[in-house]
Amino acid sequence: MTRILWPDQINSLAPPPAPPDNAGLEAEVKTTTCYMCACRCGIRVHLQDGKVRYIDGNPAHPLNKGVICAKGASGIMKQVSPARLTHPLRRKAGAERGAGEFERISWQEAFSILESRLKAIRATDPKKFALFTGRDQMQALTGLFARQFGTPNYAAHGGFCSVNMAAGMIYTIGGSFWEFGGPDLERAKLFVMLGTAEDHHSNPLKIAISAFKKRGGRFVSVNPVRTGYSAIADEWVPIRPGTDGALLLALNHEIVAQGLYDRPFVARYTNGGQLVVVDPASPRHGLFALDEGADPVNPLYPQNQLWWDRASGGPVLTHTPESDPALFGDFRLADGTRVRPAFELLAERLRPHTPEWAEKITGVPATTIRRLAREMGVTARDEKIELPIAWTDCWGNEHQTVTGNPVAFHAMRGLAAHSNGFHTVRSLAILMSLLGTIDRPGGFRHKAPFPRAIPPSAKTPTGPEGVRPDTPLAGLALGWPGSPEDLFVDADGGPVRIDKGFSWEYPLSVHGLMHNVITNAWRGDPYRLDTLMIFMANMAWNSTMNTDEVRRMLNDRGADGEYKIPFLVVCDAFQSETTAFADLVLPDTTYLERHDVMSMLDRPISEFDGPVDSVRVPVVPPLGECKPFQEVLIELGSRLHLPAFADSEGKRKYKDYPDFIVRHETEPGSGIGFLAGWRGADGTKAMRGEPNPAQWERYAENDCVFRHELAPSYRYMRNWNRGYMEWAQRTRLRRWGDPVLVHLYSEVLQRFRLAAQGKWPGRQPPAHLAKRVETYFDPLPFYFAPLEHEATDLEKYPLAAITQRPMAMYHSWDSQNAWLRQIHAHNYLFISPATALAQGIEDGSWLWVESQWGRVRCMGRHSEAVEPGTVWTWNAIGKHEGAWALAPDANEFTRGFILNHVISEELPGGTSNSDPVTGQAGWYDVRVRVSPA
Ligand code: SF4
Repeated sequence: MTRILWPDQINSLAPPPAPPDNAGLEAEVKTTTCYMCACRCGIRVHLQDGKVRYIDGNPAHPLNKGVICAKGASGIMKQVSPARLTHPLRRKAGAERGAGEFERISWQEAFSILESRLKAIRATDPKKFALFTGRDQMQALTGLFARQFGTPNYAAHGGFCSVNMAAGMIYTIGGSFWEFGGPDLERAKLFVMLGTAEDHHSNPLKIAISAFKKRGGRFVSVNPVRTGYSAIADEWVPIRPGTDGALLLALNHEIVAQGLYDRPFVARYTNGGQLVVVDPASPRHGLFALDEGADPVNPLYPQNQLWWDRASGGPVLTHTPESDPALFGDFRLADGTRVRPAFELLAERLRPHTPEWAEKITGVPATTIRRLAREMGVTARDEKIELPIAWTDCWGNEHQTVTGNPVAFHAMRGLAAHSNGFHTVRSLAILMSLLGTIDRPGGFRHKAPFPRAIPPSAKTPTGPEGVRPDTPLAGLALGWPGSPEDLFVDADGGPVRIDKGFSWEYPLSVHGLMHNVITNAWRGDPYRLDTLMIFMANMAWNSTMNTDEVRRMLNDRGADGEYKIPFLVVCDAFQSETTAFADLVLPDTTYLERHDVMSMLDRPISEFDGPVDSVRVPVVPPLGECKPFQEVLIELGSRLHLPAFADSEGKRKYKDYPDFIVRHETEPGSGIGFLAGWRGADGTKAMRGEPNPAQWERYAENDCVFRHELAPSYRYMRNWNRGYMEWAQRTRLRRWGDPVLVHLYSEVLQRFRLAAQGKWPGRQPPAHLAKRVETYFDPLPFYFAPLEHEATDLEKYPLAAITQRPMAMYHSWDSQNAWLRQIHAHNYLFISPATALAQGIEDGSWLWVESQWGRVRCMGRHSEAVEPGTVWTWNAIGKHEGAWALAPDANEFTRGFILNHVISEELPGGTSNSDPVTGQAGWYDVRVRVSPA
């Protein structure tokens, strides 16, 4: 590929600014929110003569309390990076994509090009426009734009990142980790972390772990690699990648077999006591038995299921006063229907999954599994916490205290990024539930707006008729299917979305499948796109698998001589590998140059004790002609006369993005907007209230953060807390106030399985997908080897290869940051010494890492901190020559590498290399071999 040289970017890195001279010269300090990673810490930006001189953590900010990491402190170098894009650019006539030959154009020209192109698409077939974004924090806005445009082809990076973590948890407990919830380390005694990168949830988790360890808490890390958090764990449990599901099933097995589960919690707050119809000939096989004569309360989330009451020895409606459900047994209803409690089915499923069974798969000794299970169970049972907080449950029972079982967990992509990740994460959520730790002190706690219903009520359209010219999409682009009727498919069961999300291939793909967009559009399967707009996602490099092929696809032409993806728009602040392929480049601002919101409608920074949202405010003006992508969307929405952005006569509704944030309401008069703080005409209302013209000023005066503390009685047991539910309904965090029982047994999955078996009265999958759906939509968690392993010669490629992002860089975002490049300018493949030496690979030497899909040359380092069957490296340090305005001899090109070269986005036969339930990219499933180079 030709090296890309912008006239003002041919120098390598600019010299770093001098450190601040002394305090006396400091002119101004402004507070805003960091965006050097996705954690959203509060920062203070120190300026002199209007220039950023220094950034430190804001001690008044609730998230990081003044702590700052290497990335956050290096934000200053982002401002002066030579890789900044500063003007709108158009690919030169006749220049090839990838050559990076552009000409400057004005914003007026850029908007005119987009307006005429998008208007024509919207008037004919809106799905020919696709908008995919990276780790942005404005999905409420980008999603609104896509919906208003009328395209179903929208998603952010979640399908590539950790959708299994979101879906597996939310379909089980109604919440998940990180923004959505997390470990209560203030009160936990035992903390178990699984599959978490070096510093995921960076500063907040570091602060919490530090205090936890000082208090004497025990920290166990399960991970193939012992770096970052794992390096300070009291116990490291090395495990083979992709096998955590087997470990978790064995832990669950032990908890049940030893009677260490929290029976009262399971009986009352999960669906474990609910009776399941057991009659393979019946269309209700595997569904919950219902009392048809009783009020379902909410037909969408019916509450007329049955327990088998131990006291009366017969069936009763669940949560009937004075009743107590049997968790084991085999019963007959009055009409002869055979039923068994869901917990009994779970216990039966777990029975063969012994520690000895798991040892063979995971490499974790059975004795260790047994010991850990016992430690978890005994800690949960014997070290209970009791807080003097009175609360009332959804069935009207008053409780004088809140109790907690102090075992906490945290997990992330190491569990998620496998094709078996959904069931792995369900197994984790079930373990947390059996231990009785859900939304209780010392365990897992939700953060607003969670918990959600299971599944959440947001839905996509259900067929192609939901996509119509000049009309907003008839639903959301991303939703939460609860049954086959919620899928987004055509009359033949084929996909409507370009990434095949919400089709029978990936029914619960709640974050879309970003990793298949370019391949599908290039192939025209299910159809071709006209315009692909990419925001803040390096989809030609590290946000894709199969890096070389994907870039070839972007450059490929059809028989008519036109590019197979005709028009590519890239909006980014920096010149990445992807910008070189753009037809139109839109220069975004940095986080220090714009307004932004971390909204309750999206991914706020809520705390366990209440909702928290935050903003960014500009602390310096934009460089050159940079324009925030938010402003681009407001402008385009106005020009295209999308109803959310223009009135019925086509007149724009909002002056700019800040004006939109203040005045936009989810529906006229709802009082719900992007920001929850200082609402109402005079700014005195919280969560809900009329627009407040001075809202931005109030945030700026308050460290850019709004906090709402819940009443103490609303802070725990929120899935089943009547007071909290009523408050959440009033503030529209929840649509329904029904209790959210933990789904140990997933009736949602069983509905899909029944459809695959031809027993569901509604939609059924195409014949070629029936077996797949029947297999993977098991209402109980199960373990299967990652799909790629079945398509790999494991003797030839015996090693698992994984990546993680390093502590000092956020994926590829910081490849242009002079300070951070001094920490990571190239990466190594880390290998256990025994594994390396067996292949003749010396420490520090060059080697080939090769999968069935390709090979890449890299430097290896011996490391005792990796499980012997695994090799690993940091993600996105290696760069393509010419990208990021790096010098021609930059280490990133000459010594760094990216593992994505040896990972495929598809399996043999053309199915996506993804989880068959959620479409999560299985990019941690690749198997490799190594040899000296
Ligand atoms: S963890 Fe570091 S980079 Fe991330 S938001 Fe906080 S200070 Fe910024």
